[in-house]
Amino acid sequence: MDQPKLAIAALGGTVSMQARNAEEGVFPTISGETLLTSAPQIMTLARVTVETLGLLPSASLDFEFLLSVLSWANFQIKQGAVGVVITQGTDTLEETATFFDHLWDHDEPLVLTGAMRSAAQTGAEGPANLLDACRVALAENSRRRGVQVVMNGQIHQASVVRKTDSLALQAFSSPIFGPAGMLVEETVRYLRQPAQRRVLPLPKKTTQKIALLQATLSADTLLLENILELGYDGLVISAFGAGHLSKSWADIVEKIAERIPVIIATRTGSGSTAQSSYGFMGSEMDLIRKGASMAGFLCPRKARILLWLLMGCQRQAELARYLKEDIRFQN
Ligand code: ASP
Repeated sequence: MDQPKLAIAALGGTVSMQARNAEEGVFPTISGETLLTSAPQIMTLARVTVETLGLLPSASLDFEFLLSVLSWANFQIKQGAVGVVITQGTDTLEETATFFDHLWDHDEPLVLTGAMRSAAQTGAEGPANLLDACRVALAENSRRRGVQVVMNGQIHQASVVRKTDSLALQAFSSPIFGPAGMLVEETVRYLRQPAQRRVLPLPKKTTQKIALLQATLSADTLLLENILELGYDGLVISAFGAGHLSKSWADIVEKIAERIPVIIATRTGSGSTAQSSYGFMGSEMDLIRKGASMAGFLCPRKARILLWLLMGCQRQAELARYLKEDIRFQN
């Protein structure tokens, strides 16, 4: 029987890093082709196409580049791939996964993976993660689930996954929601049914700038006051608790929200913003009155990506609806 076709792309990150000498630290140097040889079992599972689309630390990926990766992945599906795997750095994996998930218009899975230990380290887990990611990408029960992140034996849904540890092997989690599934004795097991998905059209515009500011105790207002003058098209605030700001920030937000979309997300790392609990100046009720939108369960970084994409395809008028009825959270 014909083996299924699987496409793998390498973008860089720790999974592809090695030290050139002892003092210098590690750099992305290992190609997708070489990465594949570290997990030879993959070749027994599928007919593999592998490409190195970049060798970058993930902090230096950008939306333009991700759009080119997406177009490569779309082409692979058109050529008959039953799934696509992308390896990249873990630092921005939660953001790239969200970005792709909003735009991935296929039943076939797009699976992202990386590694916390470089290829040079003892116990490097990159090959195991790559093999797991390939198993997930090839599994029939991964279809119609959009983009998944596979790390350390767990499968996380793109819309909720976060990097919650800087260096630990178990660096990814999905606060509140938990992993969507896991690999059990090489079998791909999901813990819930696929959620309904809503895919955005490709952005026609890519020059929009969305600022992300974090509220902190006794913070000055210098940056906030200058957001409009600096030319930003949208603003996300990583706010206190359930979506709260100081009175001085709230007053400025009112002026900004008259001109550009403002999203208030929680900086806590878990849980949803409120809508109708607190009434003080700077509370979520006050900020909604002043024209801001609450992010709900979306973390500040994912909210920024949603706003960037909506503005890119001229759908910012639908922001409130997208935030309120985020159907990807209804399981
Ligand atoms: N520490 C990162 C990683 O795990 C580096 C990066 O994101 O490129 O890959």
